[in-house]
Amino acid sequence: MKEFDYVIIGGGCAGLSLAYELELHQKLNDKTLAIVEPRAEYKRDKTWSFWKVFDHNFEDCVRKSWNKFNIRTDGPKGTQANECTRYPYQSIDSGLFYKKINDKLKENRNIKFFKNIRELDVNNSFIFNSVPTLQAENSNLWQHFYGLEIETNEDCFNDDTISLMDFCCDQRNSIHFFYILPFAKKKALIETTWISKNDDGSLKDYESQIKNYIKNWPHWQLGNYKINFKEEGAIPLFYPYEKKEKNKINIGTAGGMTRLSTGYTFLNIQEHSKYIRMNIENIEKAKKYELKNKSKVLDKIFLKVLEKNPEKMPDIFYKIFDRNTDNAIKFLSNRSSFIEDMSVILKMPKWVFIKALFGK
Ligand SMILES: Cc1cc2nc3c(=O)[nH]c(=O)nc-3n(C[C@H](O)[C@H](O)[C@H](O)COP(=O)(O)OP(=O)(O)OC[C@H]3O[C@@H](n4cnc5c(N)ncnc54)[C@H](O)[C@@H]3O)c2cc1C
Repeated sequence: MKEFDYVIIGGGCAGLSLAYELELHQKLNDKTLAIVEPRAEYKRDKTWSFWKVFDHNFEDCVRKSWNKFNIRTDGPKGTQANECTRYPYQSIDSGLFYKKINDKLKENRNIKFFKNIRELDVNNSFIFNSVPTLQAENSNLWQHFYGLEIETNEDCFNDDTISLMDFCCDQRNSIHFFYILPFAKKKALIETTWISKNDDGSLKDYESQIKNYIKNWPHWQLGNYKINFKEEGAIPLFYPYEKKEKNKINIGTAGGMTRLSTGYTFLNIQEHSKYIRMNIENIEKAKKYELKNKSKVLDKIFLKVLEKNPEKMPDIFYKIFDRNTDNAIKFLSNRSSFIEDMSVILKMPKWVFIKALFGK
């Protein structure tokens, strides 16, 4: 059986980001790396989007960047238009991401891919694991979604503005919004997104939700369109189980890199990869990398509010971005100072948050 210095379990976003970061900084010139990934082939399977709050390795995989986004509610406030010129909203094409990384990794003979960990002897390896252990608990919340990338005959989309959350849709006592990334005037990814316990099959008539949304929105004369791509996913809004083990670190979703209030994970994965690369020579003794405690506490309170008051969420999200958009973006991207945190927190409805803080 083959032995390697490092083993990455799961060659998805976190596994490949880490391998790329190590290779880019020549940490694999005299070390060997095995990546265990069962998928038969790499092809576009996801769209990773985020506000670019710092530089990352994948600028050349950005499909489009936007400086404006909207939040639409059916309350009296209507649509909120936000600018994010300082922190543009970027969308990474996972197909380009996989190709870029795999092309780079092929250059180093010390890096090998395997389909199954049973092909390896890992007793003397340091392991980076990105396969989460998700314990089934019925109190857990998920962000689950389904998207269609459509192409129309006519110009239909305002391609300089994304629709981050459109709450003008059937809520079914849950939290539901549509998310639209207009890649061009004739091309957009339209996602129906739910935050729920993900145990109610009746919320999963996703395609008809999207088709109705397209059909019923009076401002859209979409006419005929074709579907170019489908995306489906569920992001756990809880931390996976992590067993503390010598010579093993969890990364990605498995390593707690998801912001539970939003599901955003991609940039946290990049920061974690950088941290590992900087400490790789002494990785057994390095302090565990975690999202800031304050983000974790605030997310926990936020999720409690969300679970108890789903009907208030459109208004709460509207308020988060009200007035100072940059502070809100930094807050949601773990980059805010205490003062910036307060500027966001003070906009929240106090009583529901106090009840969530002290209630069960
Ligand atoms: C559809 C979708 C869209 C998302 N969009 C965004 C977004 O817009 N912005 C954002 O910040 N986050 C987003 N996320 C959340 C997060 O960024 C992604 O889930 C990201 O892919 C997490 O990276 P990961 O490496 O932890 O998991 P993955 O990328 O899923 O990688 C895990 C890998 O492990 C492999 N694997 C599975 N079982 C085994 C096994 N037994 N042994 C070895 N390997 C195994 C899988 O094939 C996979 O390649 C999205 C998630 C999904 C599901």
